[in-house]
Amino acid sequence: MSSYPDARSVVRALKPDEPIILNRPHAAARAARFFQKNFPGKSLYAVKANPSAELIELLWANGITHYDVASIAEVRLVRRLLSEAELCFMHPVKAPGAIREAYFDHGVRTFSLDSSEELAKIVAATTSENGEPARNLRLLVRLRVSSEYSELSLASKFGCDLTEAPALLQECRQWADWLGVCFHVGSQAMTPFAYVQALERARAAIAEASVVVDVVDVGGGFPSVYPGMEPPPLEDYFTIIHRQFEALPIAYNAELWCEPGRALCAEYSSLVVRVEKRRGDELFINDGSYGALFDAAHVAWKFPVVALEDDLIKPLQDFAFYGPTCDDADFMEGPFALPEDIQAGDYIEIGMLGAYGAAMKTDFNGFGATRSVVVEDEPMASLYDGSRVRPAADNVVSLR
Ligand SMILES: *Cc1c(COP(=O)(O)O)cnc(C)c1O
Repeated sequence: MSSYPDARSVVRALKPDEPIILNRPHAAARAARFFQKNFPGKSLYAVKANPSAELIELLWANGITHYDVASIAEVRLVRRLLSEAELCFMHPVKAPGAIREAYFDHGVRTFSLDSSEELAKIVAATTSENGEPARNLRLLVRLRVSSEYSELSLASKFGCDLTEAPALLQECRQWADWLGVCFHVGSQAMTPFAYVQALERARAAIAEASVVVDVVDVGGGFPSVYPGMEPPPLEDYFTIIHRQFEALPIAYNAELWCEPGRALCAEYSSLVVRVEKRRGDELFINDGSYGALFDAAHVAWKFPVVALEDDLIKPLQDFAFYGPTCDDADFMEGPFALPEDIQAGDYIEIGMLGAYGAAMKTDFNGFGATRSVVVEDEPMASLYDGSRVRPAADNVVSLR
């Protein structure tokens, strides 16, 4: 992959007609090392946040040995890249064939579930041809917890509640070599208290079930930095989680796990787009809701932006973006603060798109980034560089 000092040099060298993804391997490596060093347990990378092969290999090289996978395609992908990695199938509703292939062909032993039906499915799919049930299953019961402290909810779809969890834990204990609980507090949890509340639920479920628990997995939800969303330091999350974990009624050698997606890769990528047309305070850019900007359109997520032309001298004003496809839904309200004199032909860098950005893009209508390059500068904001924000991120206005 070609490498450039920064977005401006990419634009100068390539004058790209199509959007380009800029990857910052040093930023993802730094995030991985931070979790390795500071999280008081094991950190699994949640592959769905960004399944790029380069990123997965980079995380492995920086100490991430466990991967949270949710589909058989993710199982195959990570196994193909990393023959030694520990894969954990953390989707609570799986196809029987996916469980079978994961277990027998790819060495997956860890599965999550939230119902007796799913337990029966897992047991059946991992039973050998001569009728021997698997003896090495690691089962994690997914609890439903509140998403009230997070920007994106994961609360309604999965997880069993406190009336069901104790019986399911007891049932799983009979089949599991290792038994655990897991949950997800919702993505971009803006306060560590989200985990306190969830761990209180875990405690209630474990106490009620009175079974031996070998692993407590606090899931994802660790935040990154975006305009108007400046979370407390991750160390605060880790400290509080560790304190709560230590007080749980679990095996003395029980493990603590987490499954960061966003926090490990948000800083990894940004995107260079070009303005193709200006209509008042609306800019028509060449990527959008079907491209790497799904969240900007669908949940009005605010990403930092910076204009890349040296000759734009006017003060900033708020703009909305239209993406390139032919429908009105391809719209991002922002607001995105850019120089008043920006016009068609000018390039913009949109930051913090390593998580749920590059991963979401489609080819719909023939648009979207097909190329990525490496850049060496800092991401527009970082939780890991000690300074938090580089000057370019001042170029941002938030609604909150
Ligand atoms: C999406 C997901 C994650 C990652 O969540 P982030 O908010 O990106 O950290 C982790 N675990 C499970 C089960 C998920 O579905």
